[in-house]
Amino acid sequence: MDPEYSKYEPVIGLEIHAQMKTISKAFCRCSTDFHSSPNSNVCPVCLGFPGTLPVLNEELVEFIIRMGIALNCKVRDLSIFARKNYFYPDLSKGYQITQFETPICYDGHLDITLKNKEIKKIGITRIHMEEDAGKSIHDFHDDESLIDFNRCGVPLIEIVSEPDIRSSEEAFLYLSKIRQTLIYLDINDGNMEEGSLRCDANISVRVKGSSELGTRTEVKNLNSFKNVSDAIEAEIKRQIDLIESGGKVSYHTMTFNAKDKTTSATRTKEEAHDYRYFPEPDLVKVRVDDNWKKKILSELPEFPDKKRERFMSEFSLPYSDADEITQDKYFADYFENAAGKLIRRESRSYRIVSNILRAEVRRVLNEKKLGINEFNLSGKVIALLADSVASGTVSVTASKEIFNEILDGKDESEQISIFRKSEEKYSQISDTSEIESIVLRILEENPDEVSRYKIGEKKLAGFFVGKIMQASKGKANPKVVNELLLKNLETE
Ligand SMILES: [Zn+2]
Repeated sequence: MDPEYSKYEPVIGLEIHAQMKTISKAFCRCSTDFHSSPNSNVCPVCLGFPGTLPVLNEELVEFIIRMGIALNCKVRDLSIFARKNYFYPDLSKGYQITQFETPICYDGHLDITLKNKEIKKIGITRIHMEEDAGKSIHDFHDDESLIDFNRCGVPLIEIVSEPDIRSSEEAFLYLSKIRQTLIYLDINDGNMEEGSLRCDANISVRVKGSSELGTRTEVKNLNSFKNVSDAIEAEIKRQIDLIESGGKVSYHTMTFNAKDKTTSATRTKEEAHDYRYFPEPDLVKVRVDDNWKKKILSELPEFPDKKRERFMSEFSLPYSDADEITQDKYFADYFENAAGKLIRRESRSYRIVSNILRAEVRRVLNEKKLGINEFNLSGKVIALLADSVASGTVSVTASKEIFNEILDGKDESEQISIFRKSEEKYSQISDTSEIESIVLRILEENPDEVSRYKIGEKKLAGFFVGKIMQASKGKANPKVVNELLLKNLETE
């Protein structure tokens, strides 16, 4: 018999590591460029040579405070760094600089919107600063491993949530919103594949209604949204199966195997950590005064939720359109730019711009695997196309053809000249006499269908409309076609 999964409730907290987009590393002047050749971005400080001293990167502090404010956290006036001691081949210093007892940001929350539009508050326990370790590469040789120290000392922030998440869907929504916020704040590139955003999940289960927490396990290093969802699902199922078969969950660090979608415990030896944390003696305390906080606050961009509300009121977009467009800050900027170039600034035109962006532009970006910043059509050309649809010069169907044609334009002026030609080519025929001649011709060519229509087979109207539209190459105004068709069928 299948275990009664619905009897149980999962309790989930996420720890997210986000690499900060600072130019240099956390405690030295080395570059943080991900694409540099191995071991080229290193110096005595980030390699931990004896006698060298770290100096804190001010930009890192500024970035983490931005995130702290965005997640409604308290920002500590005075915080310190700690050493986390452990041996690992890719950590040449033998310790990692992190924050332990006094994280700079703490006690915040983030609202997520559930499928049923209900708002759920996820508590943020803390956000702290730390440095990354290097990277061991095992797959070049069978009997040798390589180490790249470029990542050593790259600045990270760790965002730790309260165990407020109750399903893999909620975890997905929370992670998406964290990623979106990081990108809006321009402090992280959101790239999970390259590892600049990584996630660990703490998971336990308990019988529904119970207020006690079950024993948790920690699934490490989830590097895609899909893996986060799949790993949480797999681990919940594993724990329930274990309990239902009479076993007990014990604390383990787990790894997720994406191939067969299972979680398994890593060797217990690796878990027996005693990091011997102590205050980092080489760094001074981090002091954040009110003026600095105020300055950062005044420079913050508009947050996604606010932007969505504004798009709904300013451009009369429905919730779903505004929500989709504001998911990505740059996509939202692109919309605003195009909307600002419209001749007819009215809700119908804004909606057409929204439709073109969400359908045509999105399709091209997906096909070519591009970000909106790399997209070649200017906002002005999109506005011209939307104006043309709004005024009835071209039909929605024709606008898709025109869109594809202007994609070939190398720059704005070339795109505009292609647009002008295409618009003329596809402009709708609304001239009644021209359309009527097509209508009459089609009726004449299909006498059988005409008589069948006349004895009651009214659905044949669709057949005639199809023929007429085809004959006009899609340019006949459908409204006029319908009117003239009915007039002629009824009187003939
Ligand atoms: Zn360095």
